[in-house]
Amino acid sequence: MLALQAYLILVALLLGSFINLAADRRPRGESLVRPRSHCRSCGRVLNVVDLIPVAGYLIRKGRCATCGVAIGALSPAVEALCGLAMIAGIAALGIGRGAAVGFALVAVIGLTAIAAGFARMRAKPGSQAG
Ligand SMILES: [Zn+2]
Repeated sequence: MLALQAYLILVALLLGSFINLAADRRPRGESLVRPRSHCRSCGRVLNVVDLIPVAGYLIRKGRCATCGVAIGALSPAVEALCGLAMIAGIAALGIGRGAAVGFALVAVIGLTAIAAGFARMRAKPGSQAG
């Protein structure tokens, strides 16, 4: 039971990571699958350490390991929020309905983050920040 809970929380964290990718790329009209995740400043392809939800940000101290550009606290915040939504759902309702509520909350977080990404893009047309 504990393994299943850990698995569901991990899935929520990974969904959070995907949400960041989608919120970053969709407003720019970029593909979600190509190219591989990379630093927007120096172009370095991100490795497994960079891609660990929340922990990767902490290990890198919020900066690109190659060029030192700030990654921004929004990405790990979105990932942590997704993980917390799943933890809260399971804690409140148990593993079955709780996981369903957790995934629903993750979906809401995702839609919100992507909408915010489009809003940012409109506010700063042509901006490479993010
Ligand atoms: Zn870089």
